[in-house]
Amino acid sequence: MIACVKKYLARDIAKERIHLLIDHARREALYDEMLANDQARLARKIAMRMRLRLPYEIRQLFCKGCKQFILPGISSRVRTGRSRLKAIRITCLKCGHVYHKVITN
Ligand SMILES: [Zn+2]
Repeated sequence: MIACVKKYLARDIAKERIHLLIDHARREALYDEMLANDQARLARKIAMRMRLRLPYEIRQLFCKGCKQFILPGISSRVRTGRSRLKAIRITCLKCGHVYHKVITN
């Protein structure tokens, strides 16, 4: 019972720290890419350790190929598709991996 409560508390703290780290990494990415990368990696590590699923806004900041922290306009390119299928392409400028996200509405 106590262990259960502890787990919830730990998860709340983890979530808070992940958001803090990502927020800071986003701001820092312009000035110090290494630091931003380290912070983002730490946030991802915490999420994996606590088995948390990150929200989409945060998940799309990590390359599916090289797992690095990528920011639109800095280290990733975001383009809309030209075909009838509504999709966006997120290209990692570090490894060239392209991630397609189909938009349904
Ligand atoms: Zn990549």
